[in-house]
Amino acid sequence: MSFLDSLPESDPAGRTNLLGLDRSELENWIGARGARPYHARQILSWAHRRGVTDFTRMTDLALGLRTMLFKEATFACPQALTRTADPDGTEKWLFQVDPHNAVETVIIPDEGRRTLCVSSQAGCVLNCAFCATGAQGFGRNLTSAEIVGQLWRVWHDPDAPKVERPIQNLVFMGMGEPLANYRALSPVLNLLLDDLAYGFSKWRVTVSTAGLVPLIDRLAQEHDVSLAVSLHAADDALRDRLVPINRAHPLSELLAACGRYIARHPEREILIEYVLLDGVNDQLADARALARLFRTIPVKVNLIPFNPFPGAAFAPSPESRILAFQKVLIEQGLRTLIRKPRGQSIQAACGQLAGLVANRLPERFRFATQRAFA
Ligand code: SF4
Repeated sequence: MSFLDSLPESDPAGRTNLLGLDRSELENWIGARGARPYHARQILSWAHRRGVTDFTRMTDLALGLRTMLFKEATFACPQALTRTADPDGTEKWLFQVDPHNAVETVIIPDEGRRTLCVSSQAGCVLNCAFCATGAQGFGRNLTSAEIVGQLWRVWHDPDAPKVERPIQNLVFMGMGEPLANYRALSPVLNLLLDDLAYGFSKWRVTVSTAGLVPLIDRLAQEHDVSLAVSLHAADDALRDRLVPINRAHPLSELLAACGRYIARHPEREILIEYVLLDGVNDQLADARALARLFRTIPVKVNLIPFNPFPGAAFAPSPESRILAFQKVLIEQGLRTLIRKPRGQSIQAACGQLAGLVANRLPERFRFATQRAFA
């Protein structure tokens, strides 16, 4: 197994961790042990909807089935090491995924809704120049159970008031590039939209990517969720430096993939994320170039004021320039919002997530970006 693969989802006793299995995977697993597909649906509902992972409490399962599950399966979820809260209501949880790595998950309350921002990898190989996660290097891919486990812990938090839906939106904008861990991501997307698990609307789950073009196409074919693209530059020369995956998949390829995504899901628009860096990508000419890219693709642009982190080579753009940038985009017909910085006092804002990462990536495999702006 390469260090880029997910870890096998079983414990030292050889019991399979069922937490990350979607409905069809669970049906297959349980079918191979002589049980019926509806048993899988019962188990799914116990674990994800009701938060019951103790097989002895799954009282509508036959005793023999519960005994088999007790011997051969488990529901293992990452442990929350710390929880910190910002005065603005943002909450950051740190989850231990193994003795060397811990990832961060953020709950963002806004106008009566709560959005959960989950991590898909410990660290990130893509090393975008403005991102604390990228600066840390890469530990490993999370397993499906470790990804959905972040939601499970928050959803079934015993310290929170009991409500029908503790989380209304889920975004894959935490640590890591979710499409680089597609094998683990895919069953999690199925669980999120499954009424027997979390029952999210397909409009309320967003996968963000820095631009892994072949996997954007695969996502479009296999799932129906919202797509966000971390763009941050409107020309290849600058994007090569800010988002180095651009060297492998330049803007022309990325835009073509966005077009195919919309062709497959014509009722959707793509969320374009653009972090504004003082004097780097925040000029009016950059705004006009950005607008030109999306003349024919329906998008909504999120302008993100840069959130500094220790060692960052950038400064935030002044507010007046952010507003002027937004004005140009709106005049060019692009729906454009400025993202409110949230959770800054706890380093939970966009681009600030760091967790604990045991970097296993040889330096020569990392895209060099921090140096380019130092
Ligand atoms: S912005 Fe996303 S893709 Fe880029 S380094 Fe950070 S986590 Fe990775």
